[in-house]
Formats: sequence, C-alpha cells, structure tokens
Amino acid sequence: MGSKRLWKKTGLKKSYDAVMIGGGIHGLAAAYFLARDHGITNVAVIERRYIGFGGSGRNTAIVRANQRTQGNVRLYDEGLKLWATLIRELDFNMMFYNCGNLNTLHSEAAMGAARLAVCTAQLSGVRSELLDRKQCKELIPALNIEDNITYPILGGMYHPPGGIVRHDAVAWALAKGASRYGVHIHQNTEVTNINVEKGKVTGIITNKGTLKSPRVLICAGGYGALLAQMAGIKLPIHPLTIQAMVTQPLKPILNHV
Ligand SMILES: Cc1cc2nc3c(=O)[nH]c(=O)nc-3n(C[C@H](O)[C@H](O)[C@H](O)COP(=O)(O)OP(=O)(O)OC[C@H]3O[C@@H](n4cnc5c(N)ncnc54)[C@H](O)[C@@H]3O)c2cc1C
Repeated sequence: MGSKRLWKKTGLKKSYDAVMIGGGIHGLAAAYFLARDHGITNVAVIERRYIGFGGSGRNTAIVRANQRTQGNVRLYDEGLKLWATLIRELDFNMMFYNCGNLNTLHSEAAMGAARLAVCTAQLSGVRSELLDRKQCKELIPALNIEDNITYPILGGMYHPPGGIVRHDAVAWALAKGASRYGVHIHQNTEVTNINVEKGKVTGIITNKGTLKSPRVLICAGGYGALLAQMAGIKLPIHPLTIQAMVTQPLKPILNHV
C-alpha cells in the first residue's frame, strides 16, 4: 500500500512571486498564511536539507504566552490560541496539549524576574502565577523541594494555558497546508546567493539553479545573518548554542512542562 504524500513534489520554476529561504516553522508558516490570507500562491520554500531540519525540528516543543514584555505577551497569546484552530484547519494532529507550564526557580534573581513576568502577563489578562515551593510540589509530586540539593527550588512560575505541541508535526502540517494552496517546497536545495539590483532583490541563486522573485524572505533561523550578508545586509545577530536533554521514551512523571 502506498502512502499519500503530504506535499507535492514539483520542479523548480524559473520565477516565483515570493520565495522563503528556510523550511522551518517561520518559512512554512509565512508561505501558508501568504497563500491563505493574501491569495499569493506562486511561492517557493527553499530548504537546504529537509523541512524541520533546523530549530523547528529540534526544540523542547513548549508553547506559552507568559513572555517578558507586554507586546510579546499579546503576540504569543494570539499564537497560543491558534493551535486548536490550525489542527482542524490543516487536518493534522500536531499533538497540542495545553497541560500548563511550570518554570522552577532556583535563585532570588530568578524569583524577581518571574515576579515581573507574572505581573506583565496578568496585566494583559494572561493567566500566570508565582508559586512557592510547596505549591510546586502539590502540582508535581515528583519534584524534590529539599534544601540539601545542588540547586534547591525556591518557587515556580506557573502558566496554566501553556503546553506542548509536537514540533516536527508542526512543520509537516504547515507544509501540507501550504502545498494544498500550490506552494512549492524544495528540499535539498541550498541558497548560495541573493541577487540584488539597484537596491531591490530580484531573486536567488541555488545549487539547483537561479530563480527570479521580487520578494525574498529570509527564514533561515541561526543562519539568518549569513543569508542577509548575501544581500549585502549586515545583521547584528549571532547564534548562540543552547542545550536540551533527550531521553529514551519514559513513562510520564511530569504532568506539566
Ligand atoms: C534546543 C532548542 C530548544 C528550543 N525550545 C523551544 C521551545 O520549547 N519553544 C519554542 O517556542 N521555541 C523553542 N526553541 C526555538 C525554536 O525552535 C526556534 O525559534 C524556531 O524553530 C525557529 O524557526 P525558524 O523557522 O526561524 O528556523 P529553523 O527551524 O532553524 O529553520 C531554518 C532553516 O533554514 C535552512 N537554511 C539555512 N541556510 C539555508 C540556505 N542557505 N539555503 C536554504 N535553506 C537554508 C536550515 O536548514 C533550516 O531548516 C528552541 C530551540 C532550540 C535550538
């Protein structure tokens, strides 16, 4: 039995109305919403490796709205509300689970920062609470709240509407949705240069050929500054590494993330 492709395989056209460089959540979502909301469907997503290869397929999958600034709280709150709608609209189970987020806090400085974040969220009507260590333990009985450990827990920032969403499913779902509108998704295609004439972008050069396009969106995550440099733009962005631990599948012990 053959399986159905989520997105169509297409040849590289000579020109597109818009090109997204990078097949992560930003490139795919930009292509999807450009097609859905603005009717611009002659669009290509150009990905050097495979979709979800970058941060979008390697993150800790947490979605939340309790950000530090009021502008971001509102933006992320809108984003958080989108998941349930997108799952239906794209007909794809992205495994969104709004189990709530708990950030454990291990220093007075972290407690202070959390206090500020909680107030910022509450001001925008987003649920966020500061918990003491006993309340953290009530929420997650597996936590060790003793003092005699390396990093004792002083408290926690609890955000009930937050949750998790399956990261690679998000990339696949958006690719499926974009492809339905006619967006081309080109994997294993690397952008090697961006063409600019008289201060305006005119297209890109890839390892598979040159494309014309009056709109090029750089969605290359940590490679953003390198890509911008190809268009003669110096961006003050430097990628930093972060670490996340991946275990074998375990029986869940945490009911909140
Ligand atoms: C360990 C870790 C944990 C994280 N945890 C969370 C979390 O819990 N919650 C959260 O919201 N965020 C989290 N993030 C951040 C989140 O993953 C990123 O913000 C998001 O994935 C960025 O998406 P993007 O589409 O901008 O970039 P990416 O997903 O990185 O996609 C960029 C793509 O561009 C491609 N590319 C690069 N150069 C070229 C080129 N020359 N030509 C063609 N393609 C190119 C790359 O191959 C890549 O696929 C985490 C990140 C990391 C690394």
